[in-house]
Amino acid sequence: MKLFRLAPLGMLAIALATVAVASAQRPHPTPPPTGPWMNTSLAPDERADLVLKELTLDEKVALLHGVGMPTDEPVTLENAPSNRGVGYVVGVPRLGIPGIDMSDAAYGVRSSQVNGRYATALPSNVAAAASWDTDAAYEYGALIGRELRAQGYNMTLGGGVDITREPRNGRTFEYLGEDPILAGTLVARLIEGTQSQNIIGDIKHYAFNDQESGRNSVNITIDKRAAHETDLLAFEIGVLKGKPAAVMCSYNRVNGDYACENQWLLNDVLKKDWKFPGFVLSDWGGTHSTEKASAAGLDNEQPGRFFFDDKYKAAVDAGKIPQAELDEHVHRILRSMFAAGVIDHPRERSVIDPFAGFETARKIEEGGIVLLKNEHAVLPLDSAKVRTIAVIGAHSDVGMISGGGSAQVDPIGGSAIMPPGKGATHWQQQIWFPTSPLKAIQARAPRATVKFDPGTDPAAAAAAAKGADAVVVFGYQWESEGMDLPSLALPNYKSGDKSGDTEVDQNAVIAAVAAANPHTIVVLESGGPITMPWVDAPAAILEAWFSGSDGADALGNILFGSVNPSGKLPNTFPKTEADLPRTTVAQPPKIKFDGPMSPEKWAAGLPAFPVDYDEGLKVGYKWYEAEHKPVLFPFGFGLSYTTFGYSALNVTPGDTVKVTFTLANTGARAGAEIAEIYAALPASAQEPPKRLVGFAKVKLDPKSKQSVSVDIDRKYLSIWDEEKNDWTLVPGQYTFLVGGSSDKLPLKATVNLK
Ligand code: BGC
Repeated sequence: MKLFRLAPLGMLAIALATVAVASAQRPHPTPPPTGPWMNTSLAPDERADLVLKELTLDEKVALLHGVGMPTDEPVTLENAPSNRGVGYVVGVPRLGIPGIDMSDAAYGVRSSQVNGRYATALPSNVAAAASWDTDAAYEYGALIGRELRAQGYNMTLGGGVDITREPRNGRTFEYLGEDPILAGTLVARLIEGTQSQNIIGDIKHYAFNDQESGRNSVNITIDKRAAHETDLLAFEIGVLKGKPAAVMCSYNRVNGDYACENQWLLNDVLKKDWKFPGFVLSDWGGTHSTEKASAAGLDNEQPGRFFFDDKYKAAVDAGKIPQAELDEHVHRILRSMFAAGVIDHPRERSVIDPFAGFETARKIEEGGIVLLKNEHAVLPLDSAKVRTIAVIGAHSDVGMISGGGSAQVDPIGGSAIMPPGKGATHWQQQIWFPTSPLKAIQARAPRATVKFDPGTDPAAAAAAAKGADAVVVFGYQWESEGMDLPSLALPNYKSGDKSGDTEVDQNAVIAAVAAANPHTIVVLESGGPITMPWVDAPAAILEAWFSGSDGADALGNILFGSVNPSGKLPNTFPKTEADLPRTTVAQPPKIKFDGPMSPEKWAAGLPAFPVDYDEGLKVGYKWYEAEHKPVLFPFGFGLSYTTFGYSALNVTPGDTVKVTFTLANTGARAGAEIAEIYAALPASAQEPPKRLVGFAKVKLDPKSKQSVSVDIDRKYLSIWDEEKNDWTLVPGQYTFLVGGSSDKLPLKATVNLK
């Protein structure tokens, strides 16, 4: 059952906290709301206050917690309004206030097949980040919102934006890369898209939840300046621009306190400095106290009600929690429901349009695939000329892999790899979407002979590759919540074929294939950076990420050139783990408990172990540049089948700083270029060499050009001043650098800013 999907100790605690409550209260049909709060000319805050005035203590407290995980319960007439997600807050039926029905929806609506339903799997979030496309991010969110609504939900648990400090984090695929301005800008658009469908939007996991190992006990230490300029900036942009109705606080500790009872993170930064008007809900089992968490700014415990139900009421009765504090939490939840439109536009079940979903998923994937290498223009393949193609490895005859954990979307009919056809997916099972690269390639080269080799044996794979006009060899690295990667290398895996448990060495297969055929194209399916000991050998390399419901068609279109690649890396690909700020992912100490885990022990928290973010401001490319570590593929890198030229940079200071330049498509094919704008701050600011401050994705016909203008928020040029507790622009010389990759910025202009 779903409860047993977390790290062992976490799940036990959640189980204890939710036991016996899951079946006690069920979502029931809510009568249409009436009352003065239904006056839509009033502001959400006013409407919330009108409801609040009517509520009894019990009704207020009922809004502060979940009632267990509906996923674990069979569908009944009473819980039928939704498709049974992972969290449910009982509303106030007598006043027509609906329940809050939550589903995970990182890259699509989770757990749909349990009820014989369908959901589109979008490409992993990191693929959307690789598109650097703000419109695509909006579409991504809107599709999720539509499909949530169609399944009867009114709240998403998506919007992951922890920046990639630790690329071995098993959830890297759920996030939007290593740069806070890129990630924050995209998550804001994603949230806007979701909330446009009258769904309560969410941003998570707030904050510094950058590794899965020991996520319930790790204590992240970071100084405030580094915190604000790195991870928090992504959230700040997401919260201020995307206006999510909810923020999910994370499992880990930050500077000593659990994130879900962290005064600095919740009240001081989020609610006071950023003026966040919505509500904070805990990650599942991330609540550790009643009074402390409430006072620090936690509004809602999920998924159960160990701390924020009876104990909460008792604390209010005893005067330990002021009435005003309780009312503020309730107000935030109600105002968010009004603001997101879930009361004015009640959820309705309907049928999802899978064709529209496939099209959106394919287009986003097409924009996110990154062409890393293309020697002798081996790509795109010419379907009129290519006679023989070898397709090798990674189950590319039947499917493409997806990211796991609470983000997992169920493919129609189950995973394409054995055991097939089970429908619903299971925690930490590798799920392959039935989108076949082999078929997609054959469809685009109908006259070619297309051979498949499973790529389980290097010699056999090399023999299959030899002499083919083109070879497409696949490598994959699965990722999931609940684990971190032991390394960034393509992992060995068990073939599972009839010969038994042959250990497949993916690096050896790729190296052998590339040595056998100079027309080798490597396609990677991963959630983040991969190390490539064979990088010099193949002619071409494509990073396809976890590619979603229609990944194979997107890939086929890129391989054969009906779509020109335009994605760029949202994460640096280092040469080796030895170049990371931490050479290994810190592991929690082994702990022995006296007797079984209990809610009381959980409340006390697991013994903390430290991870010190002493790299400070130097996250991602800022680290490699400052430390002079050459990388495999830099942040912002990605090739196209055409070429682009940059000229005529002009930087005009003002309330925002206007950066204008001319971008030309100098090649023979139409294409889209992501133009990247970086700034080097004055030396006195003591910053890493440069930071991304803006970007624009521009489509250009062959031999055409366009003037591009990007307004840079002065905050993006500022540093965090701990004394002022605010952003401050350091007066001095700012160098603006513009181009198509963090390592290739042909335009440069220096201006004085104050
Ligand atoms: C994850 C969240 C998720 C929640 C509900 C937690 O384990 O960290 O991202 O939304 O479970 O499934």
